[in-house]
Amino acid sequence: MSTDVFEYDVVVVGGGVAGLTAACSAAEHGARVALVDRATEAETGGNTRYTEAFLRMRSLEETADGLEDTLVDDFMGHPDPSVTNEAAVNPDRRSALYRSHHLVDPDYVAELAAEAPGTLAWMTGHGMRFDVLPTPFLTTSTTRMAPVGGGLAIVETMGKAARGLGVEFHFETTARSLVVDADGGVAGIAARTPRGTVELRGRVVLASGGYQGNAELMARYHGGRALTTRPVARGGGYNKGEGLEMALAVGAATAGNFSLFHAEPVDPRSGEPEAAIFCFPHGVLVNAAGERFVDEARGPVDAWYERTTRDIQAQERGVAWVVLDQQGLAVPNLRAGIRTDKPAVTGATLAELAGRIGVPADTLERTVAAYNAACPDPAGFDHRAPDGLATTGLVPAKSHWARPITDGPFEAYPIMAANVFTFGGLKTSAAAEVVDRDGRAVPGLYAAGELTGLYYSNYTGSTSVLRGATFGRIAGREAATSGVRG
Ligand SMILES: Cc1cc2nc3c(=O)[nH]c(=O)nc-3n(C[C@H](O)[C@H](O)[C@H](O)COP(=O)(O)OP(=O)(O)OC[C@H]3O[C@@H](n4cnc5c(N)ncnc54)[C@H](O)[C@@H]3O)c2cc1C
Repeated sequence: MSTDVFEYDVVVVGGGVAGLTAACSAAEHGARVALVDRATEAETGGNTRYTEAFLRMRSLEETADGLEDTLVDDFMGHPDPSVTNEAAVNPDRRSALYRSHHLVDPDYVAELAAEAPGTLAWMTGHGMRFDVLPTPFLTTSTTRMAPVGGGLAIVETMGKAARGLGVEFHFETTARSLVVDADGGVAGIAARTPRGTVELRGRVVLASGGYQGNAELMARYHGGRALTTRPVARGGGYNKGEGLEMALAVGAATAGNFSLFHAEPVDPRSGEPEAAIFCFPHGVLVNAAGERFVDEARGPVDAWYERTTRDIQAQERGVAWVVLDQQGLAVPNLRAGIRTDKPAVTGATLAELAGRIGVPADTLERTVAAYNAACPDPAGFDHRAPDGLATTGLVPAKSHWARPITDGPFEAYPIMAANVFTFGGLKTSAAAEVVDRDGRAVPGLYAAGELTGLYYSNYTGSTSVLRGATFGRIAGREAATSGVRG
């Protein structure tokens, strides 16, 4: 079978926020651009299509307070100071070890903070609108904005802008490998379409998302935990990790924690995108044995839900139940944090509820009685902020909003850890160049979005779309103007 070859200046892999911003930006800089996506046109956009796309911004002009520190402080290892101290020296004098180091790159984070507002203004120029919109979180630790119409508006509006700029879209076209010139520079991709194999030549921007849609890679990096998670929305199923594999094959360095993914608490019974359950700070979480295992309320729910979800995943079959009474359910706006389309399991008594959710009734009754006995005087309860109403003498404690669960009928929802995106990815420079293991830019290869590594322990919420857009735009510009391949 012959391979059709198409010539472009820039080839973008992936039609989510990172790919679309890269394509628009490259085209604006005069490049002939192709965008390939393995999905059909009706399903293009991966995760971006399904997200509300909250952005960690204070206003359109300013990123949220503390953005840079939160991202940099997320690194949880013990880096070698003899290497990391080079952050302070002139970039020209940094060693290969520093440039390829597996660490949050402060230059990358600074570039994100500097370029995010301009990126949103640029997207506004292409027809996007942004506003402060309601979140599902009862308590929050930061400020957020979002595109009106969510991620779908990004796919549709930036997709329209790209077409207007002359970008050629190739759907049902799956990038499989990189084409590499004799000098080691990346010169295109080889891809599969329903009609056969094609080669698209040009400098390459990889924006194909994480590997959450690939069971083999999930098991390789996450072991047994891979079995008790699944993508939070069907768009993640398209992200099967070829971008990562292709770049690793040409020697790319990595960043981000390959043993973790961004975990969100969702109802495993639901097929809706992001059927999230964020109401657990106002109830108790119990495992299959009917026992509590975690402090349900360590702080604002937006800052803590990921860590709590990891604790849920560590339970038998990776599932827990949140149990609420009528007092908890009456917390203003609580239902906004219950996004499943499946009904609660109810019981007039705790014993009845236990029978319906399949946990031992005597243990559940004992667990709730011990919790109730440890709750303080409820005066001072404040659902709007961590209120310090903490249990005493209970292990594990509940640090806020600890009020007795006595007022039936009772309700319960199951919760599992959904995989929003994988943390491990490619290391890129602040100019979105893919960096190799000797800290050099791989000629002709750029990457942006979920595919690039940044997070290590706890996802800095509402930064994935923001950095996808920011570095997508940078990658497109750099790929169009680098002149590595003329
Ligand atoms: C329900 C939900 C809620 C979320 N909420 C937020 C939020 O509020 N704020 C936030 O910042 N983030 C949020 N996220 C995460 C965020 O949406 C994603 O991380 C981000 O949109 C990823 O953008 P991307 O362009 O890197 O990848 P994607 O949008 O996933 O796009 C990747 C594209 O690459 C294509 N592709 C994959 N492999 C190949 C291949 N080999 N060849 C060709 N094409 C390929 C896919 O089909 C897809 O179109 C959420 C995600 C979901 C699903």
